[in-house]
Amino acid sequence: MQNNPNTTLVTPTAPIANNTHGGRAKCLQRLVRLDLPVPRTVALSFEAVQNIARGQLPDIAAIVSQFPEDALLCVRPSSEDPDWGGPGAVLNIGMNDTRFQALVDELGAEAASSVYTRFVQSFAVDVARLDPDMFDDVAQSGPQALQDSLRAYEIEMEEPFPTDPGEQLAAVLKSMARAWDGTSARLLRQAKGAPADAGLGLVVQQMALGVGLGECGSGVLQLVDSDTGLPQITGRYLSQSQGRDAVEGDSSALYLGRDPRGPSLEDLVPEAFAELQEHAALMRVKLRAEMQLEFAVDNGKVHILDGVRVPRSSRAAVRIAVRLAQDKVISKAEALMRVEPRTLSELLHRQVRTNAVRDVIGSGIAASPGAATGAIVFTATEAQASAARGEPCILVRRETAPEDIRGMHAAQGVLTERGGITSHAAVIGRGIGLPCVVGASDMRFHRRRKELVASDGRVFSAGDIITVDGTNGQVLAGAPEMREAALDESFQTLMEWADELRDIEIRANADTPADAQTARNFQAEGIGLCRTEHMFFEPGRLTVMREMIFAASSQDRRAVLERLLPMQRADFTQLFRIMEGKPVCIRLFDPPLHEFLPTDRAGQRELADALDLPLSDVTRRIDAMMEYNPMLGLRGVRLGITVPEIYEMQARAIFEATLDASADGDPVVPEIMIPLVSAKREVELVKASIDTVASSVRLEKGQDFNYRLGVMVETPRAAIRAADIAPHCAFLSFGTNDLTQMTYGLSRDDAGRFMSDYVRQGVFPEDPFHSLDTDGVGELLQIGAQRGREARPDITLSICGEHGGNPESIAFCRAAGFNYVSCSPFRVPVARLAAAQLAIGHSIS
Ligand code: PEP
Ligand code: MG
Repeated sequence: MQNNPNTTLVTPTAPIANNTHGGRAKCLQRLVRLDLPVPRTVALSFEAVQNIARGQLPDIAAIVSQFPEDALLCVRPSSEDPDWGGPGAVLNIGMNDTRFQALVDELGAEAASSVYTRFVQSFAVDVARLDPDMFDDVAQSGPQALQDSLRAYEIEMEEPFPTDPGEQLAAVLKSMARAWDGTSARLLRQAKGAPADAGLGLVVQQMALGVGLGECGSGVLQLVDSDTGLPQITGRYLSQSQGRDAVEGDSSALYLGRDPRGPSLEDLVPEAFAELQEHAALMRVKLRAEMQLEFAVDNGKVHILDGVRVPRSSRAAVRIAVRLAQDKVISKAEALMRVEPRTLSELLHRQVRTNAVRDVIGSGIAASPGAATGAIVFTATEAQASAARGEPCILVRRETAPEDIRGMHAAQGVLTERGGITSHAAVIGRGIGLPCVVGASDMRFHRRRKELVASDGRVFSAGDIITVDGTNGQVLAGAPEMREAALDESFQTLMEWADELRDIEIRANADTPADAQTARNFQAEGIGLCRTEHMFFEPGRLTVMREMIFAASSQDRRAVLERLLPMQRADFTQLFRIMEGKPVCIRLFDPPLHEFLPTDRAGQRELADALDLPLSDVTRRIDAMMEYNPMLGLRGVRLGITVPEIYEMQARAIFEATLDASADGDPVVPEIMIPLVSAKREVELVKASIDTVASSVRLEKGQDFNYRLGVMVETPRAAIRAADIAPHCAFLSFGTNDLTQMTYGLSRDDAGRFMSDYVRQGVFPEDPFHSLDTDGVGELLQIGAQRGREARPDITLSICGEHGGNPESIAFCRAAGFNYVSCSPFRVPVARLAAAQLAIGHSIS
């Protein structure tokens, strides 16, 4: 049996591997090699289990013969990755009336009955697939419970309970093999990343009973706290128990080490406790992981039944990896590889506790991670009023517009009916770290009635408390328990190690000084995209902006822009100062002008008042500016060319801020980016105008400065014609939000309405606004990068669309030779870790 690769006794040299027998079998072999007291175990390979599922049993008698004649057995699943799950363990196989009698003589009727009853009930439910309710009326314990259980089994099955240990084992193996092939098990593990053909191994182990004379029991032990990852002996022990009974809420379970809260295993059997600690410490070093031991005590003697990776929160995952590397158990690179980048974003925000009760009332797209609770408000003004009263609120809108910015800042979270992953609410939410669920189209939003109708019909009114969970897209009623954000020193250490190893720069998209500060706190290496239009929504500026839009002539427009100039200059000076000489890439004005105009009558009336114009004039102008397809209309560089005064003012503000910030700090070389370019001539015209402004500022101030001009590649034509464009600019930054929109011809603001149908039916593998479409949009990126580089070898290449923070997109950009990625400030840590993992993976391969 030792040399049979399909059914092998677990010995130090048996042919057992993770990918043939699963993680549990391999772990048990490692424990055997460490000479730990592991009960005798036989491992069945994936192939053996596949054969069993097809009806071809291994030699059951040969397996049974590996164990002492009167031994009881248990079977546990052993999948390649323990996270992929598997059927539950079945204990006490081999119990029958004869064995029962022997156990009664040895241990007494109570203990013997509990062992047998457990087996009968688990066989009935897990193997014969009977309804667990059938044992509802069975006595709690003792011989009566056993008799009741056997009778219930016989009535349901219309046959006696099987008594032959070989027959019992065969039935258990068959049911576990088939359970693995069931649809729900398959879907569950595939959701955790298991391949479609993932195999299952099984381990058959001799029971250390945990029930009997002297001190007997079972428990689990680990050396760290699962929530914090800090050293802390954690677990429970329960006398006269089996399996994981000790951690299943029995109030008589003991603490492990001495504990002021109650009695402990250390008090009861100090030698066993000391031995367990030693074993756990040895396993940590030799298995190079924090392990949870499942153990049994049999008349004072310790048995190690199993070892699994300590279950862990995101925070604990980071701390465990860092501590293992600090203790030199693993390398820094390995510590970095052990933390899933996306788990970091959970650390940066409050989250709903894993075990909290979730009363789900709707769901949408998880647009900005973290969870927030507050009273429903339906307008930005109400959000601000709520904040002024110190009352947390959730801003509920059909969709947000730039004029909602202040309300968004005032709210704890945002929920919208419409929109996708690059909608206004989503982009701003991620930028400022505000939890956000968008496109919750299964809920109904009645703004007038100030009601939100849940997917199940429940009605929530303004003032009712809800929670948005931007990490998974759920909307919850009430205030579930939360876990606070946790940026501890382990997180910082891991980030430092990531920076030592990664080979692509990470910048942040930051529009305001607060964003820039967040970007700096997360050690972004610069700002890759500052969307300047957001600055015009600041209080006091919007009216000036509107005045500018309504100006009758170029001269009038310049006069109004003069008033905006000092404000913009102050914005940029502040950004440069915060970034302390790190590059800051400022994108010139991008959105259509009518986004700044009020859409409702009340707003238009206010505007007419402010501008001292008849209401009819205002409405007529607004109507005249209406576009059928504004995202493809007069915006970006098209505005720069047709209304050049805006870009001129912005260029001047940037250059004057450059001089101001350089005077008392690190020298600044600003980067100016032109949005929505599709033709070389657009760049030539804007460049000529900006160069002229630069010359004037140099002349006026008598001081020199440098700047870099770049183009945002976000139309397919710009990517295709990159060779024409590149000679006129120092950098190309791919705006994959608009590029995805235009490549697919798919509105980024409306796609959310049907995206889930498209993904469900496999039309798109994923939402392309969320996960870069490497085939189509990716090919444009490659074409643009290659043609741009050929035309200008020293050109800087980057991505600044929302994909910039996505680990798969970073892999793509790194492989395409990009210099940096730029993403929302709160995604910077994720990007730093993902980039480090890519560099490590590359150096290994
Ligand atoms: C883009 O289009 O990818 C981009 C970054 O710009 P915005 O999202 O502001 O259109
Ligand atoms: Mg864009």
